[in-house]
Amino acid sequence: MHGRMMFQPLLISNLLDHAARYHGDTAIISKNTDGSISKTDWTHVSENSKRFANALKNLGVQMHDRVATIAWNNHRHLESWYAISGSGFVCHTINPRLFPEQLIFIINDAKDRVVLFDKTFLPLITGVKAHIPQVEHFICLGAFDQDVADALPEVKFYDVLIAENSDQFEWPEFDENTASSLCYTSGTTGNPKGALYSHRSTVLHTYAICLPDSLNLSASDVMLPVVPMFHVNAWGTPYAAAMVGCTVVLPGPGLDGASLVQMIDEYKVTVALGVPTIWQGLLTAAKQAGSVLPSLQRNVVGGSACPPAMMKAFRDLFNCETIHAWGMTEMSPLGTSNQLKAKHRNLSEDEQFKIRLSQGRPPFGVDLRITTEEKGTTEVIRDGHNTGNLQVKGHWIISTYFGKDESALTSDGWFDTGDIASLNEDGYLYLSDRAKDLIKSGGEWISSVELENIAMGHPEIAMAAVIAAKHSKWDERPIVIAIKHKDAQITEEGLLEYFADKVAKWQIPDKAIFVEAIPLSGTGKMLKKDLREKYDSVLL
Ligand code: AMP
Repeated sequence: MHGRMMFQPLLISNLLDHAARYHGDTAIISKNTDGSISKTDWTHVSENSKRFANALKNLGVQMHDRVATIAWNNHRHLESWYAISGSGFVCHTINPRLFPEQLIFIINDAKDRVVLFDKTFLPLITGVKAHIPQVEHFICLGAFDQDVADALPEVKFYDVLIAENSDQFEWPEFDENTASSLCYTSGTTGNPKGALYSHRSTVLHTYAICLPDSLNLSASDVMLPVVPMFHVNAWGTPYAAAMVGCTVVLPGPGLDGASLVQMIDEYKVTVALGVPTIWQGLLTAAKQAGSVLPSLQRNVVGGSACPPAMMKAFRDLFNCETIHAWGMTEMSPLGTSNQLKAKHRNLSEDEQFKIRLSQGRPPFGVDLRITTEEKGTTEVIRDGHNTGNLQVKGHWIISTYFGKDESALTSDGWFDTGDIASLNEDGYLYLSDRAKDLIKSGGEWISSVELENIAMGHPEIAMAAVIAAKHSKWDERPIVIAIKHKDAQITEEGLLEYFADKVAKWQIPDKAIFVEAIPLSGTGKMLKKDLREKYDSVLL
């Protein structure tokens, strides 16, 4: 016997309809590519989204066709990706920091028919255009621009299309399992692979990330997604913003600390989200600007481990609660987020802080387990110490990569994340490393993340990466590559001594190398693969 309740497919267009109907005058503030500010609201985002849906339809885009975006976080990008998914097309967000060869690979792999781009990325488009012949339309996200038209004669302009098209459009209704958007993994080895989300997985993920123990979002928030819309759909925040009807501040190209401080203070941002390297820049800039970021209640840190010193700085200097979260492209992305439980309330501040450093626990909809082997099914005991391969299962987790036939799962239906971690009795996740970043010294594993967290706790160190270097006796030994703060006096010996009372002696790095910059991936993570290539022979 079926329940006798209405059935409505879970569709992304419903989110925007809801925001327009119930939060129509809630502000959307957006920094344009030229640095100017646009102010709009959910009503106008919805209207423009419908205008753009009409424009795409008139261009002949069909159900399931891929429409790519290469753009900053701004209101045109927001309007267009609701138009794309809402119409039953697939919104393929592309990371503009990819190498041209990777860009060409993924545009062809996805068979994108249309590419939308911000003017900033015009050189990228003209550079790869000859290699992506199946792209039929290029649309520049802005007003008519002679320079763009000269460089790319067939280009269309978003603002012109918006002016030409009506805001009368009925979002089509279709199966909730229809594909909605496509993101490629960063692909540190081999070609990037696509994760193809569905309307259903996206809407369920959206419910979960809004929950109090996740990002705790509500209509009274002013959200600043610093994480780019091309990094797993800005972690799903533009969907969540429509679901709860909050104000969104879109930072455009202004991802440097000073621009972020200015946006947070001017628009009274209550919650901001990004990777640790972004927060490092913000901390320095806020101190320089003399701002204590009075409106900022919480910041969400994910993508890489949150260094304890960073969490402390946000707490002590800005009275801001840091929410540590973990996830990945294949998981839409949220897997866990960190909030305390009622039973932790009586713990000392230090003990609570220790728990808050963990990557957190899963919301309903994600299940975690740690296994002894990568493709194995034997579970490791949940005691907070024993580590193994982190595997996941749930409503918004990949089953098969885009364009591939073989399952991405273990024989019993779990996805192996490639992360090494432990779980404690309450399901709090402690990530020790990416499997490939672990250091194996004399047969024993050393976590690079743990050593990095220690190094970054040194007051004179701005950023640190720990990698394995080849060693004649121990096979591999840890070395630390670090950036000093301006005017810091710290020496190599000083930094290595700093580890002495914090880890076992055999885990202390063999060498510290000070550098001016550490290479970062397109999503702001330290590129340890590049560091290994450069430094892996320094101990030989
Ligand atoms: P991506 O798919 O590019 O978002 O990368 C996902 C990977 O980033 C995960 O598998 C982790 O290795 C890493 N990651 C994400 N969040 C965290 C976190 N809070 N702590 C440590 N590593 C993280």
